[in-house]
Amino acid sequence: MKNSTTADAIIIGGGVMGASTAYHLASRGQRNIILLEKEEYFGTGATGRCAGGIRYQFGTEVNVRLSLLSLPMLDRFHDEIGQDISLRKMGYLFLLTLPEEVQIFKHNVEMQNRLGAQTQWLSGDEIRKMVPLMRLDDVLAGSFNPMDGLVDPNSVVMGYIGAAQRLGVKTLTSSPVVSISIQSGNVTAVETPSELFYAPVVVDATGPWSAQTGAMVGLPVPVTPIRRQWLTTSAIPELPPDFPFVIDFARSLYFHTEGPGLLTGMSNPNQASGYDQNIDPDWELVHMEAAIDRLPLLEHVGLASRLAGLYEVTPDAHPIFGKTPIDGYYIVTGFSGHGFMHGPIAGKLMAEIILDGQASSMDISMLDYARFTEDRLIHEYNVV
Ligand SMILES: Cc1cc2nc3c(=O)[nH]c(=O)nc-3n(C[C@H](O)[C@H](O)[C@H](O)COP(=O)(O)OP(=O)(O)OC[C@H]3O[C@@H](n4cnc5c(N)ncnc54)[C@H](O)[C@@H]3O)c2cc1C
Repeated sequence: MKNSTTADAIIIGGGVMGASTAYHLASRGQRNIILLEKEEYFGTGATGRCAGGIRYQFGTEVNVRLSLLSLPMLDRFHDEIGQDISLRKMGYLFLLTLPEEVQIFKHNVEMQNRLGAQTQWLSGDEIRKMVPLMRLDDVLAGSFNPMDGLVDPNSVVMGYIGAAQRLGVKTLTSSPVVSISIQSGNVTAVETPSELFYAPVVVDATGPWSAQTGAMVGLPVPVTPIRRQWLTTSAIPELPPDFPFVIDFARSLYFHTEGPGLLTGMSNPNQASGYDQNIDPDWELVHMEAAIDRLPLLEHVGLASRLAGLYEVTPDAHPIFGKTPIDGYYIVTGFSGHGFMHGPIAGKLMAEIILDGQASSMDISMLDYARFTEDRLIHEYNVV
């Protein structure tokens, strides 16, 4: 016989989404919550492997609005949660090399400005002046937002976990959910190999593993795990302290300072889906060739570390929030490679949906689960 416990809500997954949801539910007064993480530590999934970038620059209004609410929560994080998160604002600089990108980004910058994000439009020459270490002769134009930057993902997860614990949330590691029970269309319990947890509310916050979790309740969750990887270099004394987070958009190639060196990643457009989190050495060679082409001094630096993780990709590159056809079963997943920065507001919105019946901080009705069956997909251009 397994031990059994009863809770008001169970959250499955201890990445940024689960941790933020647990904290925000508890801060609204719901204290009998249990968060279950399959691994030995919290935040070892996508969140712990992410590049830590935070930005206002997106191609759809709903993503910009998520950033307009979420990034200020990171500004306030230390005061509210009591955890330093190594917030640095050096700005994201998008490099555009194709005429069609220029048109779309110009439109996006206007939209971002209209919503209140301070993104600037830059000419190719202005960009060449801004980052003289880079080879940029083919850059036509670009966009820069000085309020974009970097945050340490593990500090955010552990900040939320610690704050949730202080509010009474029970957080368990090494607790993989292996089955979920439904009775008469309502979720009733989840099970790990050693315990049974009864609750009328269950939240799937399992990121890249959400399709597997959905399968436990017979719910098709259109989230595909896609491997992405990056590496860091040895010290590069030539890098100025204000070196921006640079994205070569056409190549999905990015760079930002990391300690005394640089972190660089590039998305493989042909990466097959799957749960493999090992480095692909062949792609690393392609990536390094492109990175050296953009930043020639990389030819002379050493490798410090490398990591691969999984993007949690939906068919329209937008997240899935809220209720599902199963009563009491909620979902917060599918942020498609830029979810870390939206984790703070996502948890708050989930608390509103669960406790009040709908989100009130902003309108996210278009990000519902039903859009996939009702042909209401969203188009996002700025996916890196
Ligand atoms: C290489 C890389 C770079 C990235 N760069 C950025 C960036 O710069 N900026 C940004 O905003 N985003 C970035 N992202 C995306 C970001 O990491 C994700 O969108 C975000 O972390 C998703 O959070 P999550 O909580 O949904 O998923 P996760 O962090 O993966 O959390 C899900 C958790 O659920 C657990 N779990 C799964 N199944 C079960 C189960 N059955 N029982 C119990 N627990 C379970 C997992 O172990 C995991 O800890 C990047 C991602 C990668 C891979």
